[in-house]
Amino acid sequence: MDIAQMLSMAAEGSPRGALTTAARPPAILRTEVRDDGVAVVTLDDPRETHNTITPQLGAELDAALEAAAADPTVKAIVLTSAKKSSFLVGANIEMIQGIKFAQDAEDMSRAVGERFARLAGGRKPVVAHVHGSALGGGFELSLACSATVASDDPATVLGLPEVKLGLMPAANGLLRVAARAGLRVAIDLGLTGRSLTAKKALALGLVDEIVAPPVALEAACRLARRLCDPKAYAALVQQRARASGKRRVERALLEKNPVGRAVLFRRARAEAAKQTRGHYPAPARMLDVLERYGKRGFRAAAELEARLFGDLVVSETSHRMVELFFAHTALKKDPGVEHEEAPHGAPRAVERIAVIGAGLMGAGIAGVSIQAGFPVRMKDTDDVALGRGLKYVRDALDERARRGSITTLERDRTFAHLSGTTDYSGVASADLVVEAVFEDVDLKKGVIRDLERLVKDTCVIASNTSSLPIARIAEEATHPERIVGMHYFSPVHRMPMLEIVRTKHTDPRALATAVAVGKRQRKTVIVVRDGTGFYTTRILAPYLNEAAHLLAEGVPIEVVDRAIVDWGFPTGPLQLLDEVGIDVAAHVTTVMQAAFGVRMRAPEALAALRMDDRKGRKNGRGFYLYERGRRSRRVDDTVYGALRVTGRSRPMPEEISVRATIAMINEALRCLDEGVLRSPRDGDVGAILGIGFPAFRGGPFRYVDVLGAQEVLRRTRALEQRLGPRFEPAPLLVEMARKGKRFY
Ligand code: NAD
Repeated sequence: MDIAQMLSMAAEGSPRGALTTAARPPAILRTEVRDDGVAVVTLDDPRETHNTITPQLGAELDAALEAAAADPTVKAIVLTSAKKSSFLVGANIEMIQGIKFAQDAEDMSRAVGERFARLAGGRKPVVAHVHGSALGGGFELSLACSATVASDDPATVLGLPEVKLGLMPAANGLLRVAARAGLRVAIDLGLTGRSLTAKKALALGLVDEIVAPPVALEAACRLARRLCDPKAYAALVQQRARASGKRRVERALLEKNPVGRAVLFRRARAEAAKQTRGHYPAPARMLDVLERYGKRGFRAAAELEARLFGDLVVSETSHRMVELFFAHTALKKDPGVEHEEAPHGAPRAVERIAVIGAGLMGAGIAGVSIQAGFPVRMKDTDDVALGRGLKYVRDALDERARRGSITTLERDRTFAHLSGTTDYSGVASADLVVEAVFEDVDLKKGVIRDLERLVKDTCVIASNTSSLPIARIAEEATHPERIVGMHYFSPVHRMPMLEIVRTKHTDPRALATAVAVGKRQRKTVIVVRDGTGFYTTRILAPYLNEAAHLLAEGVPIEVVDRAIVDWGFPTGPLQLLDEVGIDVAAHVTTVMQAAFGVRMRAPEALAALRMDDRKGRKNGRGFYLYERGRRSRRVDDTVYGALRVTGRSRPMPEEISVRATIAMINEALRCLDEGVLRSPRDGDVGAILGIGFPAFRGGPFRYVDVLGAQEVLRRTRALEQRLGPRFEPAPLLVEMARKGKRFY
């Protein structure tokens, strides 16, 4: 069986299906030979929005290159794409997901690597014309070409994002980056998965020309013709060397000699270990490959790359990351309304947005809105508060300009979309208003009353509360059907998540409109049903409570936090309490307890800490010590005195992680059972992106599936027996365990 057959089987999941289906799929590539002897090979998969690497594309590419090599009228080749915003976005992820054995993935990597090596070693020059994204295998393909001409469109980005799927580049792209731009650049691109603009890629010698989009293909053909002359090719290689010239000394010192390289890799491994805490294997595997490249050259490294790629493809981590990728993609297409509501649930056009309250959240929401292109009117009660909000937005834009993600012109144009007011002037024309005033139900009701007098009938009114039920905020509204919750996370410009809350009165169109706006603000949106704490706050509360219970039992602060961070959360729960504010958390817990009873009971510890005037970072008194507003690594030992505990109890780390995470997972299952969540998918994505549930564990629901509902139930019951009714298993967990069911 040849490799193409094997890959087709992997892609289609059935050996027979792949070998016996008769219908020939439509062609992906077409070749046109121009009068000047340039064969333009166009990638255009008619079934997809973007081209991806599939066995079919590989076979057609081979055939096209062989035909061009054999045709004496063809002097040079240009690879281009007919897609609007992409060249080639990498391997087909469904195909990767279908691979069951490491050996199959290894063979695939080797086959693609050999194909690209043939391309790189061909006698006729091949130039890639890149417009739009060239990601993963797409970027690797361009690197294997003799040269790349990129369009200077903002959509043109080049990168190796495989790490985000728990994988690594598998067609020697990392090695080619290292050869051209140095090991350090390869480490950076591979381990972060970040994309380069065409300009940055040019500066690193990873792209050879940048040209305006309308003439870029023509420029690629011209360059291809020029490169038929070996002298021109030599000049190009020199030009690349000059591009990396600035780093030449550093490369000589650090990369080209064994001692320097050892230092470079030691540092990179330490940094990777710090970031991944051993949970994500791909970064360390990439370092293995690059280190081998430094020591033993391209072929030996390529061999190792294929083998390690094979292991990663079948790893649990990669499975979870790929599932998350698909969940995320599905959410992007989800309008947020149910299928049967769709006829009445088309989103309304939103041209203008108003934000009431220019505090931390209001300013954040205004910031992401102007960046999405909406003109925004922001209101606060006085000039000082308004000025603070405007400055917050401006600072965030300045930061982006400083980092080079936007130009100063774009920054100024974007900021010009924002205006401020201390009365309601300019708010009446808004199509969507988000209120983000203090967390006070009467104040919020008052704001809604004011708004209803002003805004047009079609305007959607959203509340950014973190815990108050939207129905309560909307109970005196004349038109409760236009009211939704838009729960953003802090800091708004960094957190990718938005939880949109519908009440039983919310009109599907209002809901769909809010969802569409959230997506334009580049948020991942989940829609949840109204209720105290919605979904994210509701699952966070028992988890934070459990950390406080452990503390009150005498477990040291750093022991609690370390156990949870080692389990995979980005921050420990007690550090998180310091950030959120111990007072705020205590207040939320009281609200939650009123709604859900004993299982959300606020631990006495939180009350004792409040009495001790501990609010966390904001007043410099929390679980950790603060110096001039900065958290130190050291914990504040006086907490133990305030709690009257010794802080010397040392349970096993699993005791801590099991207690805190079961509390969260059990509550997540209740949310699904009660219809707060629409699907396990939303629950998983919400927990990962909203509160940092470890991505490699797949989210609370996926985690139950992996562990098995019976095992989760066994652990929950054991905790219930030992610690009481707050661990009473969710009815859905009991049912899933009894029937041996899975969420996915
Ligand atoms: P904040 O104290 O920073 O800002 C609130 C702002 O509202 C202040 O500037 C205040 O002057 C202004 N304001 C009060 N009454 C007003 C009125 N009548 N008209 C206009 N402005 C008025 O608070 P925040 O952290 O931005 O929180 C705002 C809301 O967002 C709260 O409901 C909070 O629960 C929710 N929230 C906060 C977070 C968070 O992490 N901070 C996360 C999600 C949701």
